[in-house]
Amino acid sequence: MKIVMKFGGSSVANGTMIRRAAEIVAKESTQNQITVVSSAMEGVTDSLLTMASEVSNRGADPIQKFVRDLYERHLLAIQLGTENSDLQRQAEKKLKKQLHDLEEVFTGIAILRELTPRSKDHILSFGEQLLVPIFETVLQDLGLKAKSITGKEAGIVTDDIFGDASPLKEQTRESVRREVGKILRRETIPVITGFVAANQNGNYTTLGRGGSDYTATIIGDSLDFDEVWILTDVDGFMTSDPRLVPEARLLSTISYLEAIEMVAFGAKAMHPKALIPAAEKKIPIRIKNTFNPKSSGTLIAETEMVPSKRIVKALGLIRDVAMINVSGTEMVGRPGMAGRIFDILGKNGINILMISQSVSEANITFLVSRNLSARTVSVLEIAFLGKGLIREVRAEDNVSVISVLGAGMRGTPGIAAKVFGAVASHGINVRMVAQGSSELNISFAVQEQDCEEALRVIHKKFKLEMNNY
Ligand code: ASP
Ligand code: MG
Repeated sequence: MKIVMKFGGSSVANGTMIRRAAEIVAKESTQNQITVVSSAMEGVTDSLLTMASEVSNRGADPIQKFVRDLYERHLLAIQLGTENSDLQRQAEKKLKKQLHDLEEVFTGIAILRELTPRSKDHILSFGEQLLVPIFETVLQDLGLKAKSITGKEAGIVTDDIFGDASPLKEQTRESVRREVGKILRRETIPVITGFVAANQNGNYTTLGRGGSDYTATIIGDSLDFDEVWILTDVDGFMTSDPRLVPEARLLSTISYLEAIEMVAFGAKAMHPKALIPAAEKKIPIRIKNTFNPKSSGTLIAETEMVPSKRIVKALGLIRDVAMINVSGTEMVGRPGMAGRIFDILGKNGINILMISQSVSEANITFLVSRNLSARTVSVLEIAFLGKGLIREVRAEDNVSVISVLGAGMRGTPGIAAKVFGAVASHGINVRMVAQGSSELNISFAVQEQDCEEALRVIHKKFKLEMNNY
């Protein structure tokens, strides 16, 4: 099989971990054709981000110490991960050269005292850029042929949205096939920086925080690989957040659509956009825990590939939400009101999480992130109040959204009754309900202080702790 193996930051956090990751690759490569995608060492991207803003605010002083610390951490990884001293020396030379480049970019920022989205992405690209040559070296130390390249060199071409770039599909496909294909034809393992790509002018772009997953599925899609493996520090997707629901259980299989919903509702197992190329191409994704090799992980595939008797599979939670209620009897029977409200919110960059309108039409209720609550109210008040259309805009700030997820809910009657019956029997008040027409989830809002109990009650009601799907 042709497999992309993507390692997250904690799986390459130091030399011992990189060695372990490389051994996993070595083992799989006896049977399969492997391409590696790697994140930066845990914490490095965050530290680059902090340092970039510090240097742009306060100048060059902290640069040298910061670069020296990076040097020491990566050098130690080379020494711990590699036995052959020639390989060590080569890797160290490359590291020095890269850090020299990083120092220059930082110095430029310090002189200008300005951090643009473009220069920020350039800085951020160094986390993964420093890592992949070390991974390559450790693979070589294990006797394998490996070649490290950046996502840019691999041919991932994106739009200009620095910090959250998306690949230009056709161009990326063509160039990835060419560039990565070249390495694979030499029976060499490509080791590609996750997260990092470039726009059409060749400027570095990044795919959004946690974007290495996305790199992995873009590569897998472009080369028509058989599977994408995400090697991380969790076992996979769970029936609910185990910190809130102690009896939550690992889901051994879920469909792409379910995974997309779960990620939208807070599951941290994968980067949301990463699922899309895999779903389109029907490339199975396996999530595996590097720290718990005994766990079978989660397999994400097409619905038909992962049949399930379970109707409800998992519960999601979004905290820190505010409920906004726009009311006024003048709204009744007036076409276009909802359109005008959402148009104004859209123009102000306010994202809506969930909407409901009663048949009486005397009010429209919707949810936004809590930090946008005050702004949402004032934007609407400025636009509508005093014009005789809306009487009141009210925000309720202590709300959470619970989502009951599962593809089997489609066309199965009685699920909503069971959910709300369970919640009501514990005296929990439901503030607002929405079900998408896809019927993949039922979502509802409760008061913040009720949300954890509601999760546990529903988890129990649907016996999600039981391993019988
Ligand atoms: N290093 C990047 C980040 O921390 C990308 C990734 O880890 O996937 O966001
Ligand atoms: Mg990371």
